Amino acid sequence: MLSKDEIYAEIPGKPGKWVGGMVTPSDGRAEPWVAVPAIGRAAERNGAVIVEDCAVRTLEFEGGKLTGAVTEKGMIKADRVLIAAGAWSSLFAQNLGVSMPQLCVRATVAATKAAPDLFNGDAADGTFAFRKRVDGGYTLAVSDIHDHYIGKDSFRHLFKWLPAIKASFKGITFGMNAPKNYPDAWSHKRRWTGDEVTPFETCRVLNPDPSPRALKRIQERLVDRFPQLKDLQLEESWAGMIDAMPDFVPIMDEVPTQQGVFIATGFSGHGFGIGPAAGRVMADMLMGKPAGYDLTRFRYSRFSDGSKIELGPFI
Ligand SMILES: Cc1cc2nc3c(=O)[nH]c(=O)nc-3n(C[C@H](O)[C@H](O)[C@H](O)COP(=O)(O)OP(=O)(O)OC[C@H]3O[C@@H](n4cnc5c(N)ncnc54)[C@H](O)[C@@H]3O)c2cc1C
Repeated sequence: MLSKDEIYAEIPGKPGKWVGGMVTPSDGRAEPWVAVPAIGRAAERNGAVIVEDCAVRTLEFEGGKLTGAVTEKGMIKADRVLIAAGAWSSLFAQNLGVSMPQLCVRATVAATKAAPDLFNGDAADGTFAFRKRVDGGYTLAVSDIHDHYIGKDSFRHLFKWLPAIKASFKGITFGMNAPKNYPDAWSHKRRWTGDEVTPFETCRVLNPDPSPRALKRIQERLVDRFPQLKDLQLEESWAGMIDAMPDFVPIMDEVPTQQGVFIATGFSGHGFGIGPAAGRVMADMLMGKPAGYDLTRFRYSRFSDGSKIELGPFI
């Protein structure tokens, strides 16, 4: 644990309004576009088959028993299936009659070119996050600008989301101008069969434009926190949809009413970091092996069994 003074000594500039901090030297960091394909190749070396550009349209059941996944290229037989479709999971599950209160917010990130080495770690407070990359540049984000596009599910799950909205209202902007084909778009059909083209085919990659307001705020905070970097420009920017559950804790469970259908989704802004561990736990769960952890907190039924919503870490 670091005191406020120790943080200020560690990070030159005006690092933020911290009361203390935690250093975890054993943590790793990685670029998703390097790490994810590498994990994919490692999975293939171990026998996994990865099929790209191929949407799963729905699941098929015979006599109430799961028989497989219907893809746009045909059927894959299976008696167990994991829905891990990120921001699309809720839409996919709705078509099966499985409801979960997942919603999304758009988050924006920016990158600078190589810059003087101020602090070689990753750091974030409630408003600003930065990390030094291997190429010498910084990756930056503001933690208090997230855009939620109101759709049918926003209304459907409103009551479950009230505690989260109350806790993070200032950091969320609400709008109706959702990017085209956004998972909760008003225009999407909510029910389809395996013979129909699905929303997962009309939008192959969910890649919203970055928020100009967030980019402006990132640039302002960079200069405010690190005046010595005042001439450093943002060189690149991108955005993505962060999918979350109303308590900011993922669901990792088998659907109680549909044997063989498992869900791992709603990882908020933490799914890259905890993804490998979540994958291991889910692999064991699907194989019927004990996970070795108490997974009660991640149960599917917590949003329908009358439990109080206990907020986890922020989005
Ligand atoms: C801007 C931004 C910054 C972030 N920063 C961090 C960070 O610093 N640290 C961190 O830990 N996390 C971070 N996250 C969160 C992290 O990226 C997510 O939690 C994580 O990617 C979720 O993983 P997932 O496997 O559940 O879903 P995804 O990564 O979304 O993967 C789901 C996949 O399923 C595919 N799919 C969906 N539907 C279908 C279908 N019907 N058929 C076939 N395929 C389908 C999708 O195309 C997608 O490839 C960030 C997210 C954003 C948007």
